[in-house]
Amino acid sequence: MSSGFSAKEEALFFQTGKVVFQQLRDAGSPADLLPVLRRAQAGFERAFASAPATARRSVACRAGCGACCHERVGVQAHEVLLAAEFIQANFAPEAVAAVIARAANHRAAYERRAHWEAGAVPTPCVVLHEGSCTIYAARPESCRAHHSHNAEACARNLAAGEDVVDVYIRGVRGRMFAVMLGIDHAAVEAGFDGHAYDFGSALHEALTNSLCLARWQQRQPAFPASCREEPDADDPDAGEMRPSGFFTEL
Ligand code: SF4
Repeated sequence: MSSGFSAKEEALFFQTGKVVFQQLRDAGSPADLLPVLRRAQAGFERAFASAPATARRSVACRAGCGACCHERVGVQAHEVLLAAEFIQANFAPEAVAAVIARAANHRAAYERRAHWEAGAVPTPCVVLHEGSCTIYAARPESCRAHHSHNAEACARNLAAGEDVVDVYIRGVRGRMFAVMLGIDHAAVEAGFDGHAYDFGSALHEALTNSLCLARWQQRQPAFPASCREEPDADDPDAGEMRPSGFFTEL
């Protein structure tokens, strides 16, 4: 694949995707499918632990920071379903209702697109509370993949409304993206929903419509088109990831 990955990162991509693809293909019942993706997310921790010690030591991310949690999060359907499952299993009823209310406001704004077209005003993620992620164990893949070496620079990027300082950590980022793309390509190759969704909008749908999980299990689009990211002519994966043949041929 032409990815910009190093040989080790490319190997990690294929290793991750092959396992996820086989487990999805071999799952005995619809109820066994989402747990495959939940287990696969442990691959991010393993990938981080295998990064060079200097790279790991340079991570500046701390609980209570949350600057990166003011950008819109793009996800695949299974990430939303895992987050909704976590919220329903772990939050008190009033807390679930509060997330639904915040997500409803977010979704209404996203549907109008006014905020994002205007571009500059940072908006907190619907599950961010006092600077911390309330679904940390079930956070989306792009959140797991992101690490910064400079928290102060993240705050400056947030205030500027664009990345004026590069905060990425080279020795960590590539392997995290290898895991993320391995999981996502495997899910699509196994026939599951490959649309890119807006996290806050799709989370609202998942928490208010019990049919979303069944649709995903049946390999149909889990969420309505209004929750999708806009296709991007410069990035075909921005609107929908399509089967690649990476793992069916292994
Ligand atoms: S899901 Fe959690 S980590 Fe991701 S943007 Fe929202 S609050 Fe931040």
